[in-house]
Amino acid sequence: FNQEIDSRKKGYAPLSRDLEDFYIRRMYTRVQECFNRPIASAPDTWMDVIERVSCDRKTLIPTKKTRRCLNLGSYNYLGFAAKDVYCTPNVVESIEKFGVSTCASRVDCGTNILHLALEELIAKFVGKPAAMVYGMGFATNSSTIPALVGKGGLIVSDKLNHSSIVVGAKASGANVKVFDHNSPSHLEKVLREAIVKGQPLTHRPWKKILVIVEGIYSMEGEICRLREIVAVTKRYKAYLYLDEAHSIGAIGKTGRGVCELQGVNIDDVHVVMGTFTKSFGSCGGYIAGSKELIHYIKSISPAHLYASSMPPPVAEQVISALKVTMGEDGTDRGIRKITAVRENSNYFREELRKMGCEVLGDEDSPVMPIMLYIPAKIAAFSNECLQRNVAVVSVGFPATHFLFSRARICISAAHTRDDLDQALQVISEVCDICQLKYNPPLRLTA
Ligand code: PMP
Repeated sequence: FNQEIDSRKKGYAPLSRDLEDFYIRRMYTRVQECFNRPIASAPDTWMDVIERVSCDRKTLIPTKKTRRCLNLGSYNYLGFAAKDVYCTPNVVESIEKFGVSTCASRVDCGTNILHLALEELIAKFVGKPAAMVYGMGFATNSSTIPALVGKGGLIVSDKLNHSSIVVGAKASGANVKVFDHNSPSHLEKVLREAIVKGQPLTHRPWKKILVIVEGIYSMEGEICRLREIVAVTKRYKAYLYLDEAHSIGAIGKTGRGVCELQGVNIDDVHVVMGTFTKSFGSCGGYIAGSKELIHYIKSISPAHLYASSMPPPVAEQVISALKVTMGEDGTDRGIRKITAVRENSNYFREELRKMGCEVLGDEDSPVMPIMLYIPAKIAAFSNECLQRNVAVVSVGFPATHFLFSRARICISAAHTRDDLDQALQVISEVCDICQLKYNPPLRLTA
């Protein structure tokens, strides 16, 4: 750990004061011990938020004194998660028709017309010939990746990929290598070392190579450098798997994610994954690709074969939200939502930076981490915000590197300009209390 601190001091901007270094070194062991105790890994160890009643723009948080807070914590990018004039009546009707559960897996008698309609619609939306849906986003990754690559294969995964990808990669039995976060040049280096060894590409030692990246990295707010990554995967004849959990619906002119934003041909991404828990205000995930690929995954993926299928109202919520997003409800509400989340995000990020906050993430991304660095500031920041009726999620080790604790703001199309200005006022006060305004900006990198 000392080496880590020293190398950071050399490679990046200096790490605040010596006192903080000393404090971090001492705390590191303590926090590790704390997280290693089974009881301490309970989800509310660090959270003062006990229950979220709604993922509306305003959310009710019962603490000692129940508060109505401005919600800057949910991934409700397009604002579909709260009661919606179009989706909610359809969802209620679907419960009356189909009930709330299928009580069976897709291959038994758990497939209904909503699943098929949703698979057709999501394939059309992302621009692939076919798609399949799962009842859970996490299982979409952890069950599909082992279906694609196994022993004798190679997975090359971004260092900051989501836990569901890490779990899937480990379970696959393939050889797993990691490349530096969002670095096409390091990806190329890893592939070159794994493949070439003096041999022509055709003599490579792997049955199959799968490169896995995300559209928006949820702890960084950063958008994938997909164009350059595609160029590398093409050069090394590797398959590309893209997790669009946070980018689908949220970025691109018509919400079609990172490919649309960067003008990447969707055919260059072989496996497109996404979830319905963010932009579409529902649950579950999807894989989109060629007809053969989807047929193949359906025949061997355990979460498709052995898990209960997506509940009907959950499927109906996604269908309705997708129809709005695609303009198939006959209104321009979808495009207005997509424009609103982009404008809100760019406004908020810009204002935070003007304030002197250290904010990560790229233009257009609705995820914006405010760097807190010091673990002790995690609870302080969210508590001070909560006292002022603003709910934010603060995260630290082990979800991030120990030295890079952060408060993660998620912006929604449902936020009004008044909401955002009110939140900025609160965050400014809290940043003063927690000493989080830097002039000039620190710009540290993980
Ligand atoms: N992939 C990524 C990149 C995620 O951030 C998440 C969870 N936020 C998942 C997959 C799993 O999705 P879900 O929460 O819908 O299970």
